[in-house]
Amino acid sequence: RLITIEGLDGAGKTTLAAGLEQELRRRRLPVVALREPGGVVLGERIRALLADPVLDVDPRAEALLFAASRAQLVAERLAPLLRDGAWVLLDRFVDSSLAYQGGGRELGVDAVAAINATAVGDVRPDRTLLLRLDPATGRRRLAARGDEADRMERLDEPFFARTAAAYDRIAEADPGRVRVLDATAEPDAVLAAALAALADLLGP
Ligand code: ATP
Ligand code: C5P
Ligand code: MG
Repeated sequence: RLITIEGLDGAGKTTLAAGLEQELRRRRLPVVALREPGGVVLGERIRALLADPVLDVDPRAEALLFAASRAQLVAERLAPLLRDGAWVLLDRFVDSSLAYQGGGRELGVDAVAAINATAVGDVRPDRTLLLRLDPATGRRRLAARGDEADRMERLDEPFFARTAAAYDRIAEADPGRVRVLDATAEPDAVLAAALAALADLLGP
């Protein structure tokens, strides 16, 4: 099973992934938590390029680089794990590109979806948990975290508003797969809502 976790910077994706991992492990499910680039060496090299503040990366090139990193992750780790019956919790996947490159960088969701279809083939999330947060709260949380921003994180308010709107449209278009969670709730409440949104997959 593939469960992806999506949302704006600071929405609480990594926090939720850790909570879910613990909960699935408690249920004795074979769970693997990954975040792109997932320890895949080619993916890590590509991410280093994408984060480099010295580089001027064209939006189309950016979308293709994210997709290339994702293609390698699918081939090298994700597809084999899913074939073996693992439960994979993945912190960001194709929807991040649809929202950030398609919406935020204004390439259009359809153009970015086409690029990613080539990258991921028939690997599709069984469920996507979208942590919905207003952009201002996300930025506040990140500022409180106080780490240095890389190239990807120096993004302005309209960019985040477009990204958030694209996420909302993705959720509306595919309500069976994408479940929207209120990311402003306490972490425990977010985890409980996520488990409820996975109840049909997890069983009794
Ligand atoms: P990024 O996109 O930058 O990786 P993220 O979505 O993974 O961010 P986290 O790193 O999980 O977000 O959380 C961002 C910050 O917000 C952290 O300081 C975390 O402790 C805090 N946080 C996470 N979840 C919540 C929550 N439900 N309520 C309040 N604060 C939270
Ligand atoms: O959430 P994470 O730490 O993985 O994201 C790293 C940075 O890359 C974030 O600033 C996010 O805005 C950006 N990003 C992006 N396009 C994606 C995925 C992440 O711009 N497809
Ligand atoms: Mg994170």
